Amino acid sequence: MLHKPAPVPCVAAPPAEPEFQQALHEVESTLAPLFEKQPEYKKAFKVIQIPERLVQFRVPWENDNGEVEVNNGFRVQFNSALGPYKGGLRLHESVNLSILKFLGFEQIFKNALTGLQLGGGKGGSDFSPKQRSNGEIRRFCQSFMTELSKHIGQDTDVPAGDIGTTALEVGYMFGQYKRLRNEFTGILTGKALAWGGSLIRPEATGYGTVYYVVEMLKHMNETVKGKRTLVSGSGNVAQYAALKVIELGGTVHSLSDSRGSVINADGFTSDDVFEVQALKAKYGYLADWVKTKGDKYVYHAGARPWTLVDKVDIALPCATQNEVSGEEAKALLKAGCRVLAEGSNMGSTQEAIDVYESTLQTEKPLWYGPGKAANSGGVAVSGLEMAQNSARIQWSAADVDARLEDIMKECYRNCFEVGQKYGAGKGYPSLVTGANIAGFLKVADAMKAHGDWY
Ligand code: NDP
Repeated sequence: MLHKPAPVPCVAAPPAEPEFQQALHEVESTLAPLFEKQPEYKKAFKVIQIPERLVQFRVPWENDNGEVEVNNGFRVQFNSALGPYKGGLRLHESVNLSILKFLGFEQIFKNALTGLQLGGGKGGSDFSPKQRSNGEIRRFCQSFMTELSKHIGQDTDVPAGDIGTTALEVGYMFGQYKRLRNEFTGILTGKALAWGGSLIRPEATGYGTVYYVVEMLKHMNETVKGKRTLVSGSGNVAQYAALKVIELGGTVHSLSDSRGSVINADGFTSDDVFEVQALKAKYGYLADWVKTKGDKYVYHAGARPWTLVDKVDIALPCATQNEVSGEEAKALLKAGCRVLAEGSNMGSTQEAIDVYESTLQTEKPLWYGPGKAANSGGVAVSGLEMAQNSARIQWSAADVDARLEDIMKECYRNCFEVGQKYGAGKGYPSLVTGANIAGFLKVADAMKAHGDWY
């Protein structure tokens, strides 16, 4: 079934918010089969698309020259029907309200799919830690949290990391909250292990995406072993997705960053990925890393990986939004790609999703695992971090990893069964339809119980 964006912009997403409009229309179009069977849910959709609260604030901070700089700070508290608002803080120069509203909206359904008591939110700033000194990052984070601390709390809103927000930034923000409130509480996740972090949180999103792929492959009577895999990005999610694929016997042939892609026809080793991890911790670029490697490592400046390899089994977009176009989706299909699962949020354009979904009725579809399901392992382990913080205990890595795997299996089963009930592809049901309807129903029903619609 093709999912066409609705022709008329929604009231909640004015044209100045293209990313939010895209996310809204993607969800709305897949909810059509539900609305046909139970039209009363249209009322819930009208309510759910407006955030409960938006906080926008200025973040003045001092650079190393003693001058004042100023950035925009945001927190979108989108939906608290299932629990405290939960979602990351993005620190990147591209951050604006449209991007944070799209991320916060997706987060509502993603968090519902984890089965944990988590509402949806997102935040961040147009400040980028790249090329900033440690002191500048610290002063920015302290100023940012000085305002944000008025709006969050362990039972209200628990932000986490995202692009640009690593354990370093989380540490500075956590410290500032503690200083201001005289409270040691789990108001952020993605913390370092010594002061309340969870084992497996850094690995969770990448590992979880691959656990989701494992379930998709099981349905095809296949495993990851021997599968040729393309990964985009080279940050947190990409690194651990690549490492898990390699651990399970697959081969990873690409990594990329905002400047270009590296292809290795033989496949990267785990040590390569650890080198890239060290490079990215210092905000380095693959273009420089590749110069230290042999002829097998081929750099393509300004290119994404999807069209650079002739034969592919699995594609894992793990960098940023809209990183697979319709044309690139067709190229993946032609190269034999059978599974595409998003580690990134809204990794595929609507045109690319239309290509994947149009193959569902064919013998060999390019089966699509949408980000809100496939990358939900990160927020799931954040939820487990909150549980450990409340009980003042720490579970073992094996324990958290096993819980993560169970959550991803259950998330897949939920998407599969609901996709089968409402979607068109029976052998290979639409997992995006399943994810959107399963997540939406859970939140909409809770909102109805709270009197938010009737
Ligand atoms: P990181 O900041 O660690 O890595 C981001 C990667 O994407 C980097 O390789 C970066 O390149 C690349 N990138 C950023 N912008 C662009 C662009 N415009 N074009 C091409 N490449 C780009 O972030 P994460 O790995 O944490 O996040 C990646 C994605 O996964 C995001 O969509 C995020 O929202 C999503 N996600 C993350 C979760 C988490 O737990 N971290 C949880 C769920 C989803 P460069 O190094 O050059 O900047």
